[in-house]
Amino acid sequence: MDQSIKTKCVQGGYRPGNGEPRQIPIIQSTTFKYNTSEDMGKLFDLEASGYFYSRLQNPTCDFVAAKIAELEGGTAAMLTSSGQAANFFALFNICECGSHIVASSSIYGGTFNLISVTMAKMGITVTFVSPDCSEEELNAAFQENTRAVFGETIANPALTVLDIEKFAKAAHAHGVPLIVDNTFPTPVNCRPIEWGADIVTHSTTKYMDGHGSCVGGVIVDSGKFDWMAHKDKFPGLCTPDDSYHGIVYAEKFGKEGAFITKATAQLMRDFGCTQSPQSAFILNLGLESLHVRMPRHVENGLAVAKFLKEQPQVVKVNYSGLEDDPYYALAQKYLPQGGCGVVSFELAGGRAAAEKFMKNLKLAAIETHVADARTCCLNPATSTHRQMTDEQLAEAGIPAGLIRMSCGLEDSADLIADLKQALEAI
Ligand SMILES: *Cc1c(COP(=O)(O)O)cnc(C)c1O
Repeated sequence: MDQSIKTKCVQGGYRPGNGEPRQIPIIQSTTFKYNTSEDMGKLFDLEASGYFYSRLQNPTCDFVAAKIAELEGGTAAMLTSSGQAANFFALFNICECGSHIVASSSIYGGTFNLISVTMAKMGITVTFVSPDCSEEELNAAFQENTRAVFGETIANPALTVLDIEKFAKAAHAHGVPLIVDNTFPTPVNCRPIEWGADIVTHSTTKYMDGHGSCVGGVIVDSGKFDWMAHKDKFPGLCTPDDSYHGIVYAEKFGKEGAFITKATAQLMRDFGCTQSPQSAFILNLGLESLHVRMPRHVENGLAVAKFLKEQPQVVKVNYSGLEDDPYYALAQKYLPQGGCGVVSFELAGGRAAAEKFMKNLKLAAIETHVADARTCCLNPATSTHRQMTDEQLAEAGIPAGLIRMSCGLEDSADLIADLKQALEAI
């Protein structure tokens, strides 16, 4: 019987047997004991599944990864040390020196930097496209050496909504997978695999943890992309891996298991960006209430967006749940229950107004974080982007008076009262 996502949030992944602990055990152990070298040898040859060293795999992390795979409707998943590590591994698992990526230009700054600066040093190039581009423009971005397409369901911080079907169609027409970072909606509000995405990533640091406790990430494989059908593009999955006695991942583990097995066996082995079992345990506590928290974040986001829309000190509000937002139609399609609790808005008075407004907030805290139970605000011009002039900011689509507000789980009446007094004080 296929269970509701609400039930999967609570009960997915770990299913204890008779007399076993009710809560996920924290296996705080670097290593695992075997009776014979032969037993352990089979693990190193990927002939048997099991644990030998927590840099590659740990049972606590695997229980939590299995829950997230169920939530996203995937076949396999792995936890990573951060969202950055998740996106890097998802791309680097199928890209190498000489490969090319097509990516939405509307993505998280850290990911933009990862792809455009750091991966460029590895010989991997990128063409950025507007998430709103036409199918023709999108198709024109592909090259002979394109190996992946990347986008964010709801972009942080631009809050654009990705037309997942459009991007999936173009990716598949060119024989490559679509990777979607689904951090902001979470699988409670959108499951990109149902719309054609092949790989889904998250910064679990955000809503999944939801309490500002642990930095982490996850990669989920849909198990749908047919690597062997595009053998020449994906030699890492479709030709023998000499570091594991010539295993061909796509043959031995099939469509369902190849991607995550390779990412674990090669990338975790060599880069070691693992999540600690302690963090995975805390992440799971967050997941148990994700389906209860997300509707409240959405409710508060919408209430705040509607309030801000009516204020004379505010010239613009970005929130795809508002009927006159440019992304309303896409949000209705992909996010019918709402997107997330993050709203951005522009103050009429520019930089000076933003500085005053931020100073006067009493409940919303000034933080670079988003997607926490506690409401927080950020003015990029005076914090994360303070090296840029007002002209440069305007060019980058981040006006000096822009505020990003991540609505938490408090009573929306209190959030609005705080905003009201801070706006009046400008
Ligand atoms: C925060 C964030 C990341 C990076 O995640 P970390 O856990 O901070 O490494 C990636 N993508 C999106 C959409 C994010 O919001």
